[in-house]
Amino acid sequence: YTENYFKILEKREQLPVFQYKKDLLEALRNNQVTLLVGETGSGKTTQVPQFFVEELKPHLKNKMIVCTQPRRVAAMSVAKRVAEEMDVEFGREVGYTIRFDDFTTNNKTFLKYSTDGMLLREAMFDPLLTKYSCIILDETHERTCATDILMGLIKEIIPRRPDLRVLVMSATLDTERFLKYFEGSPLIKVPGRTFPVEILYSEKPELDYVDAAIRTVLQIHMKEDPGDILLFLTGEEEIEDVCRKLSFRGNEMVDYPILKPIPLYSSLPPNEQQRIFCDPPKPREPGKPPGRKVIVSTNIAETSLTIDGIVYVIDPGFCKQKIYNPRNRVESLQVTPISQASAEQRAGRAGRTRPGKCYRLYTKESYDTHLTKQTPPEMLRTNLTTVVLQLYRIGVANICKFHFMEPPAPETMMRALEILNYMGALDDEGDLTELGKMMSDFPVDPQLAKVLISSSKYKCVSQMLSIVSMLSIQNPFLRPADKKKEADRARQAFADVCGDHFLLLNVYDTYVKNQFDAKRWCRENFLNPRAMASAVRIREQLEKIMKRFKFEISELSPLQKEFQNNIQKSLISGFFMQVACTNKSTGKYEIIKENEKVDLHLSTCLQSKPTWVVFNEYIQTTTASIRTVTEISNYKWLLEIAPAYYDLDTLPAGAARDYFIKEKYENKPKA
Ligand code: ADP
Ligand code: MG
Repeated sequence: YTENYFKILEKREQLPVFQYKKDLLEALRNNQVTLLVGETGSGKTTQVPQFFVEELKPHLKNKMIVCTQPRRVAAMSVAKRVAEEMDVEFGREVGYTIRFDDFTTNNKTFLKYSTDGMLLREAMFDPLLTKYSCIILDETHERTCATDILMGLIKEIIPRRPDLRVLVMSATLDTERFLKYFEGSPLIKVPGRTFPVEILYSEKPELDYVDAAIRTVLQIHMKEDPGDILLFLTGEEEIEDVCRKLSFRGNEMVDYPILKPIPLYSSLPPNEQQRIFCDPPKPREPGKPPGRKVIVSTNIAETSLTIDGIVYVIDPGFCKQKIYNPRNRVESLQVTPISQASAEQRAGRAGRTRPGKCYRLYTKESYDTHLTKQTPPEMLRTNLTTVVLQLYRIGVANICKFHFMEPPAPETMMRALEILNYMGALDDEGDLTELGKMMSDFPVDPQLAKVLISSSKYKCVSQMLSIVSMLSIQNPFLRPADKKKEADRARQAFADVCGDHFLLLNVYDTYVKNQFDAKRWCRENFLNPRAMASAVRIREQLEKIMKRFKFEISELSPLQKEFQNNIQKSLISGFFMQVACTNKSTGKYEIIKENEKVDLHLSTCLQSKPTWVVFNEYIQTTTASIRTVTEISNYKWLLEIAPAYYDLDTLPAGAARDYFIKEKYENKPKA
């Protein structure tokens, strides 16, 4: 072993879970399922899998130990760290798997960190998860859909795999619920080792939490003792913007130590994510106080990643959350207030190494009256279409009887079944069709999978692969606060008369042509180079799947007259439920069957307002709008492609119905 190994070992042995190694291994020997609760930073994620490796390695026989993480960043970062701690090569003995990226080696990897979604995906092809002799579900308190379903599956697998060992870990646990769910399983509690954290509330509500956050960082920097700062914000753009501003202000403040902002969010490349663990910057001059790290992070730093040395936490009280309304089938990512449980976790991050302070940028009254106790599980606030399709594919006999920890609302479940039926993934008896099976093989939403499959019929597979890849990455368009106009102009240069899906295609094609000089090209066009690079990778993988199904990678020339029509038709085949048309009397768009009135999102490249449009995303802020919108040149295609959905007998009154009635009765050729 290297010197580094022993240096880290010394630190590892001081982590609280180390005291519980014997108990854990004993529980593992005597039980199929064990529960472990331990404060964030106690060493669960990095240490416990290593205990199991030591214990099980001689008996593994090509099987693996897998540890799930709800967040990609955590899976990547922890796998790297553990490889270093074990002094083995990363990507060989220890690796990770996340959607579209696999850093493991066949027959070599014995410990794998995986997103919960990816392990669930594996269960589709290997329902008993036979590759693993030990499954560790981590961060189960986050209650993501995938983890919740994995827990249910594991309950079904266990009697059929007596050799399998399962550990359910979490930071805080609704202990009673879990003990009841995994009846008879032992619970090991690792006491936390945290210092007191003083909580400071804003005296009056903040008008702008981003401004307030920057102000607070600067105040701490000027007035408080040394110690790093952790600031929670909601997303990449906000975070990058604040880091830029802090960096600028920090440089101006020459009488104070160096201020070093470090961003942390999921789409950051792994080597940049590692920066959160670096030492604080050196003093400006020898003898002066050391500099200060300011980690500006999404929710990732709440429980998934522990950063030592944090003394000050700034909590504006918001995070981005998926919200689903089954009544209008609309799912959206919204900035929402966090729960009290989250606020406690965030505050706890300040007391890792010594007593700390947490600045809540909201009032005490707001905490007491506006924040909910717990964030509801994702299962209760998401569109279940993907989940239900996966459960069918895994072969869960009766979905309504599946043992969910908290069953979703029957309404949401019914909606999912109905949607899958309209899409042709389930037949009228409720059985999975060949098409449904094929759709579930694609690691993208069912709508996108359907679009890809039907693009073969419309001879535009190549184009749809590019469009779907562009829809699968984070928003690639950069819009720096001080250069909004230039950015919008750059984007408009890719505009297309048909709309935004075509714009995405133009962006992709032009990017590929300029790939030899990608960095510069992206900068000039206000595109995120990482997002564009991942679009290329995603496209390669989707293309492989298309080829596996023996689809020809057909391509229409933009000069062919079918070009616009066929791409639109492919889009309709998956997104016929995300169609809007203008109401002639109000001039507003109405989403078909929802009677929801919406506007086109400001970012659209459409110059005029086509009567019929298909859209990718519904956004609800103070107003409702639809984003990534393309014209439907001929609404009769809807009747052709999705006759069941557009059946006049079930179509409610509204603008769409008026058009169809007219079509049926008035436009009949005269006898
Ligand atoms: P838990 O899962 O219980 O929250 P972890 O196992 O993630 O705890 O963390 C244990 C310790 O390992 C923490 O002190 C954390 O800071 C440290 N650690 C984790 N990843 C890294 C890394 N990449 N570099 C340095 N330290 C790390
Ligand atoms: Mg952890």
